[in-house]
Amino acid sequence: MHKRALVLFSGGQDSTTCLAWALDRYEHVETIGFDYGQRHAVELECRQVILKRLRADFPQWAPKLGDDHLLDLKQLGQISATALTDERAIAFEKNGLPNTFVPGRNLLFFTYAAAVAYRRGLQVLVGGMCETDYSGYPDCRDDTLKALQVTLSLGLDARLVIETPLMWLDKTQTWRLAEDLGGTCLVSLVQQETHTCYQGDRTTRHQWGFGCGVCPACELRKNGYQRYAV
Ligand code: ZN
Repeated sequence: MHKRALVLFSGGQDSTTCLAWALDRYEHVETIGFDYGQRHAVELECRQVILKRLRADFPQWAPKLGDDHLLDLKQLGQISATALTDERAIAFEKNGLPNTFVPGRNLLFFTYAAAVAYRRGLQVLVGGMCETDYSGYPDCRDDTLKALQVTLSLGLDARLVIETPLMWLDKTQTWRLAEDLGGTCLVSLVQQETHTCYQGDRTTRHQWGFGCGVCPACELRKNGYQRYAV
């Protein structure tokens, strides 16, 4: 019934795996990314490389992969002061959330994505949110996104589905899902071209990809890969 999807695609491991999941499942898939004044533009650069390689290396998916949309959301930097957008160290706030948290970021992303999806005739929004080994972001929770699905469907007067294929997977299972979807070719694409590191490190190469190796995002990616590789 639902054949056309829009994937929230940041250029990271999770959203790249979600993009492959959507390409495997739907007839037509478009991507959307957000430029919100990230401290490191490296993620946004990775997006284009990943899309290019998906088109070149996966002939079964290439015809389904449609337009990429990049939205300018720089005003997010004005309403948040976090380690992702400012030059400051990553630490945990008193409420237990890391200061990488942009309050309500995913609510905004999905709302913008829904507006684009409506105009483009896309019925499914796909996001890489995950409750299993996340950093406690309340806007990544399943309940939040279920409620948002209802809100967006009512507000647009059109049935919109939010799919989060990684919601109950840990990072090890996310690596495994990439292999299930696209074999070792997709696993090496994820290793080489996706970016997760909060510090924006694209010079230090590890088996699990580029990154500083010590920030929380690198830690998760590294530990997940090591368990997957065994
Ligand atoms: Zn890192």
